[in-house]
Amino acid sequence: NQQIVLAERPEGMPGDQVFRYEDIETAQPDAGEVVVESVYISVDPYMRGRMNDGKSYAQPFELNEPLGGHILGRVVESRTESYSEGDVVTGTLPWKLYNTVSEEALTKVEALDVPLHLYLSTLGMPGHTAYGGLLKIGEPEAGETVVVSAASGAVGAVVGQIAKIKGCRVVGIAGGSEKVNYLTDTLGFDAGIDYKKPDFAERLTEAVPDGIDVYFENVGGEISDEVFKHLNRFSRIPVCGAISGYNSTADTGPRIQQTLIKNQAKMQGFLVAQFADDAAVTSRQLAEWVKEGKIHTEVSVAEGFDSVPEAFRNLFTGGNFGKQVIKVSES
Ligand code: NDP
Repeated sequence: NQQIVLAERPEGMPGDQVFRYEDIETAQPDAGEVVVESVYISVDPYMRGRMNDGKSYAQPFELNEPLGGHILGRVVESRTESYSEGDVVTGTLPWKLYNTVSEEALTKVEALDVPLHLYLSTLGMPGHTAYGGLLKIGEPEAGETVVVSAASGAVGAVVGQIAKIKGCRVVGIAGGSEKVNYLTDTLGFDAGIDYKKPDFAERLTEAVPDGIDVYFENVGGEISDEVFKHLNRFSRIPVCGAISGYNSTADTGPRIQQTLIKNQAKMQGFLVAQFADDAAVTSRQLAEWVKEGKIHTEVSVAEGFDSVPEAFRNLFTGGNFGKQVIKVSES
């Protein structure tokens, strides 16, 4: 068995020295415990915040202790009635090839006829984030214009597709022509804009002739400064993330308040956990849309436990295209 521990707290982009691989024994399960073999490991941007010391909404990772997050795995040994060998499960677990855990740490995956990694993307935490943030905080109405940043990613792609289902005009912002073409050609967005091109501001202006009613904020920084220029009165801004700053050591200070006041816009931060009470309904609805072919999911699969650090860094360089997961064993 192997695990990955936090060897040091990163400054800026986490280099390889931040991740230490250790050989370990797999603990024997006690009564009520199971052994889970990791199949897919999810890397998610919020983990970067947990690598820092200091208060945030999630506990910091401890130095010299395993990093971790959402994992999809298979039960290989069970000492509980609730799970049998072969069951597919998800849980928030340490980055280990095998975890020995209490049955309470796991959720059994409802067997739908879909690829398993979808339970870490559209049918998992990112999908729930998109659904709750857009529908409960963004409150889009048919005919309105919805703009989403990091639009080809795990959360953004689902946000845009739900907004299309709800009858909105949808504009996605992403880096590079491959991602931007994917937004319009595969996901059916009305426009895709490449923020890395020098004509970003012009293209954005053209794409939102009626202004912006909902801006689903994933990136912060200069991209959002440009978006804010087009906010309509009474627009809504679900603040999901600000990934452009996660590796930054500079303090950019406040930059949005005046625009919000002028347009009486509502900007509200949220955490996916606040939608937990509605998780069953959300899961059913997302699964239905996936089965109906209304939501497409792109995935970047890195191969092998060794590729976890590189796959994690992809999130901050745009090296991933869609949900980033790491396949660590055969499913
Ligand atoms: P993605 O799958 O979208 O991967 C991250 C993407 O962000 C990259 O592919 C890249 O796309 C883009 N990106 C990275 N750095 C920058 C930058 N400097 N400027 C602009 N874009 C950048 O990740 P997720 O969908 O999982 O997460 C998206 C956002 O949602 C994150 O901010 C995350 O923290 C947040 N989140 C919040 C939750 C909550 O409860 N509030 C829960 C889950 C996620 P590109 O190539 O287009 O630049």
